[in-house]
Amino acid sequence: MDLNQARERMVVEQLERRGIKDSRVLAAMRSVERDRFIPAEYAEHAYDDGPLPIGSSQTISQPYIVALMSEVAALGGSERVLEIGTGSGYQTAVLSRLAAEVFSVESIRSLHEHARLILEALRADNVNLRCGDGSVGWPEAAPYDVILVTAAMPGIVRPLVEQLASGGRLVAPVGEEDLQTLVRLQRINGSWQEEYFGDCRFVRMTGKHGF
Ligand code: SAH
Repeated sequence: MDLNQARERMVVEQLERRGIKDSRVLAAMRSVERDRFIPAEYAEHAYDDGPLPIGSSQTISQPYIVALMSEVAALGGSERVLEIGTGSGYQTAVLSRLAAEVFSVESIRSLHEHARLILEALRADNVNLRCGDGSVGWPEAAPYDVILVTAAMPGIVRPLVEQLASGGRLVAPVGEEDLQTLVRLQRINGSWQEEYFGDCRFVRMTGKHGF
């Protein structure tokens, strides 16, 4: 099976059948080539239903989780989004199709540089990348309509919440080192509303407000 067919099958079997409904998210998942973000040795597994190693003990997220987080972020196209944990850059590329501008922070330099090369090759020119500790956010470019964290957080991190625009939402895996809950935190009419979207497993967020 060629990679385009494999990607289409991934969207139908792993995303649509499991309940991903946002048509813009499904279109983005159909168009971004996940195979470009993974090491060549795993190419034949590019559309498998799971995470894959990307070096430095980190992983590219499972396609379903990328789609779920994108759907939970509820993007209409006009938003400014901050992502913590660029990793391979795959989720970043998906977000770049769904939002107006994307900022993404990665703490491991080799991953940051590798993601930059791919995202430049894809001409994702609404993406801004930074190498550093994302647990403190990216205050100079705040506020953000959405902050999406793709590393496990031990709790709600105050500097990130403070960088949300009014009506903004934080989407993050919150919990223990080996198991988290996908949480959406949003301020509605002055009070914070927290919603839960099931269990997930992410690598740890390091840094000042990490584990
Ligand atoms: N969104 C990525 C998933 C990457 S895994 C993808 O689609 O490929 C999580 C990433 O978060 C790892 O690359 C890890 O190095 C990074 N990370 C962990 N703690 C961080 C921190 N404090 N600041 C920035 N990046 C961090």
